[in-house]
Amino acid sequence: MEEPRVWDVVIIGGGPAGLAAALYAARALRSTVVLESNFPGGQIYTTGDVEDYPGIIHTTGPELSMMLKDHAEHFGARIEIGEEVVDVDFQPPIKRVRVASGKEYQGRTVIVATGAAPRTLGVPGEDELRGKGVSYCAVCDGPFFRERHVVVAGGGDAAFDEGLYLTKYASRVTIIHRRDAFRAQKVLVDRAMKNPKIDFILDTVIDRVNGNGAIESIDIRNVKSGATERLEIGGLFVYIGSDPNTSLFNSCVTIDRGGFINTDENMATDCDGVFVAGDVRRNPLKQVVTAGADGSIAALTADKYLDLLDAGDTPDEAEAIATSKLSWKNEY
Ligand code: NAP
Repeated sequence: MEEPRVWDVVIIGGGPAGLAAALYAARALRSTVVLESNFPGGQIYTTGDVEDYPGIIHTTGPELSMMLKDHAEHFGARIEIGEEVVDVDFQPPIKRVRVASGKEYQGRTVIVATGAAPRTLGVPGEDELRGKGVSYCAVCDGPFFRERHVVVAGGGDAAFDEGLYLTKYASRVTIIHRRDAFRAQKVLVDRAMKNPKIDFILDTVIDRVNGNGAIESIDIRNVKSGATERLEIGGLFVYIGSDPNTSLFNSCVTIDRGGFINTDENMATDCDGVFVAGDVRRNPLKQVVTAGADGSIAALTADKYLDLLDAGDTPDEAEAIATSKLSWKNEY
């Protein structure tokens, strides 16, 4: 396809949310480009086994990433790999997205699908053993840790939620937290304390992850006494927060205290013609399937917005109608 001067839909981020949005937008016959700085698939590209995507009993992260990319391209989306977005201007009617090479992409709509990165401990061995016993996703990887002693690092809601989830599989779950008070909700802390499979090591940090090709142990240190210990474990789940990739978008979209972008149920933001999908959005679950669902909604809301612009509505009228639940019910 010849490159249009102005695309109907410019998608920033080529993870599952961005690629699903591309598939839906292109299939709706909208000229669509995806700008991805690294690999297609985003976080899922670096995941080993995937067995929780509906309809696919087992695949790998790289395979699923390529399937998502191929699917979007099949319907005519252009996927530009290695295009790092460095600046955006979301003023209507034409949005401008500039990439590191200096090229500018113009779009009648933009879908932000830049994802979030789980925070890492930043200790020796963590990177090397990622996917080999070190995980940042209990829902994705928990079933691979049956009857093993696993450690969860963190003291927030996610550490407790995921620690409780892991008791379905692991023989023992030890929550290691750097303080003696938890940030997590009391209800989760109480539930974990009552669970016979869960124990706690407090005021303690992890200094090193050890293993030769697979995790074997961690070195821990009590921050009050200074005492150190080597703990033999079968897995380490790191839940110390995540950092959504929102640094480019501090104008126009609303970012909450946790750094996530707020949207309505149609993935719309306060900026006319700018929609958001996937892990960068405040949402209750961060999975490939939910990112894909977000992407599909964002693309169809964008499609509807474009229909309304073409019918003569102004950008704010189009935005208001495209994101009204009633009009969705009437039209679809
Ligand atoms: P969070 O609430 O920011 O908690 C992060 C935890 O990691 C804190 O206990 C923090 O310790 C610890 N931590 C941070 N950096 C660390 C480091 N370098 N080394 C060791 N520990 C470190 O993050 P989250 O648990 O991922 O939750 C994120 C958001 O999602 C929150 O708003 C949460 O409420 C929400 N969420 C809700 C649910 C639910 O409602 N069921 C489930 C999951 C997530 P300190 O306390 O000492 O700072």
